[in-house]
Amino acid sequence: MASNKGKSMNELIFATQNKNKVNEIALIVPENTNVISLLDLGYEKELDEDFETLEENSSQKAKFVFDLFGKNCFSEDTGLEIDALGGAPGVYSARYAGEEKDMQKNMDKVLLQLGDSKDRKARFKTVITYVTSEEIIQFVGLLEGEIGKEKKGINGFGYDPIFYLPNGQALAEINKEEKSKISHRGIAFKKLISHLKK
Ligand code: IMP
Repeated sequence: MASNKGKSMNELIFATQNKNKVNEIALIVPENTNVISLLDLGYEKELDEDFETLEENSSQKAKFVFDLFGKNCFSEDTGLEIDALGGAPGVYSARYAGEEKDMQKNMDKVLLQLGDSKDRKARFKTVITYVTSEEIIQFVGLLEGEIGKEKKGINGFGYDPIFYLPNGQALAEINKEEKSKISHRGIAFKKLISHLKK
C-alpha cells in the first residue's frame, strides 16, 4: 500500500492479508494517513475468527494484531446477508460451500438456493474495529442491493459478480475506484477516518 510519510501522520495497521481489501482501502486513504497491512509486515499466519458475529470476529482480529504489534490497528469483517435466506451466508460467507473457501462454489450455492425467488434483497455488511491503547470502537458500513440470477463482470472479488446494485450493474462490473466510493468497506472506513479527525 502507498505510504504517506511526514509529520503528524496517522499510522495504522490494517489487520488483513487480503490484497483485494488492501487495494480498495488504499484508494480512499487520506494523505495524512499511512496504512500498513499484514502483507507489508510479512505476517502470513491466518487470523482466527472464532465467533458467530461479524462484530466479534472483527474485534478478535483487531485486538490480536494490536497486542502483537503494539500499534494503532483496525480490522474488518464482512458478510453478505440475503433476506430470503434468513440473513445467510452472513458471518459464514467465506466458507458457505465448504472449508476450501471456493468463491465460485459459494456463489453457485447462493444462486441454487435462491432459484427463481422474487425476493432477492441482500446487503454487504462490514464491521471495522479500531483498537488503540485508549479505545476500542466499531464502525459499520452497509451496501444494499440484490442477488442477480447470473454472475456478471470480472472486477472485484468474492460475491461481487452476483451482487447487483439498484441500477442493475453487478459490483464486479464497476471498477475498484467506483466500488471503494460506494461500498460497505468504503463507508465503514470513511467513518473511521472521520473519527480520527475528531
Ligand atoms: P471476510 O471479511 O474476509 O471474512 O469475508 C467473508 C467473505 O465475504 C469472503 O468469501 C469474501 O470473499 C466475501 N467478501 C468480503 N468482502 C467482499 C466484497 O467487498 N465483495 C464481495 N465479496 C466480499
